[in-house]
Amino acid sequence: MLGAVFLGKQILKLQEVTVREPDPEEITIKVAACGVCGTDLHIYSGDQGAADCPPGTILGHEFAGIVVKIGSAVKNVQVGDRVSVDPNDYCGFCEPCRNGKSNFCENMTGIGTTTHGGFAEYCTFKAKQAYQLPDNMSLEQGAMGEPVGCCLHGIDLSRIKTGDTVLVIGAGTIGLMMMQLAKKTGAAKIVIVEPIVEKHAMAYQLGADLCLNPKDGNLKDLLAQHKIPEINVSIECVGLPVTILQAIEVCGRGGTVMMFGLTSPESTIPLMPFDVFRRELHLTASFINPYTLKRALTMIETGGLQIEPLIGARVSLKDIEQVFTDPSYRKLGKILIIP
Ligand SMILES: [Zn+2]
Ligand SMILES: [Zn+2]
Repeated sequence: MLGAVFLGKQILKLQEVTVREPDPEEITIKVAACGVCGTDLHIYSGDQGAADCPPGTILGHEFAGIVVKIGSAVKNVQVGDRVSVDPNDYCGFCEPCRNGKSNFCENMTGIGTTTHGGFAEYCTFKAKQAYQLPDNMSLEQGAMGEPVGCCLHGIDLSRIKTGDTVLVIGAGTIGLMMMQLAKKTGAAKIVIVEPIVEKHAMAYQLGADLCLNPKDGNLKDLLAQHKIPEINVSIECVGLPVTILQAIEVCGRGGTVMMFGLTSPESTIPLMPFDVFRRELHLTASFINPYTLKRALTMIETGGLQIEPLIGARVSLKDIEQVFTDPSYRKLGKILIIP
């Protein structure tokens, strides 16, 4: 089969790879769609991101497909089933696992980061990581389950209360997911901050109450001009020091700052502890997606979250290399690779 193999910094090559036979507790699926994630781009660029990826690994961890083979001990899925994949597998016996914090598992493996992933025609992995798709959900929607699951964990940690005013910085795929989930969680008012004004229309369509262009002036002043109440939760979905500082600056008293965007490991920000004290800010972040895929798929199935408009392009697996080398793809929204 063909698979897109990460071979080292800025080298991703489509290669012929043997399909691995499933062990007794594994399955093989025919991949239908696999999303390109910021993490894939970080790995490709050689950044140390959320995952350490050994060269020689097929990337892709946001995917869904049809089961074509099952191991002798598999009980939860059958050949022909349509499944979405939770890429992470936790050991269950390390200290974080036994403290109920499995996303920090010391022995975690990740499909598409530490083992062969979904930028391929087939993928073999543990059956327990497969989640059946409801009949009314497309395989492309199933492939979006993983990023939605990551956002859900961030939302869980954002302490949103019914009636809150929530500010989301960045109207990319993640920002637009976070915005919709914040609203479903009870936020009454959502303000989007996004310098690319072409993205505002989509944000309004998906439920934003106000979109601001940070180039129009100081964000605090802009919020005051629009008579926006005190921000209860600010969610940063860009991952730059400047936008994290903005999220902290505009967050209201007793509020939560969710630093969701992945920064480079070297990034630092100047922080005044006295300021955090005076506003009693809750500064936090979110690390991957511990057991959130089920809820993510239910949100998509029930229409609680609109994800079709977030799919910016579908690219054939044979053209995957250009998605990584050509920066113009970054502007398109979520890109699905179709084997
Ligand atoms: Zn991802
Ligand atoms: Zn563990």
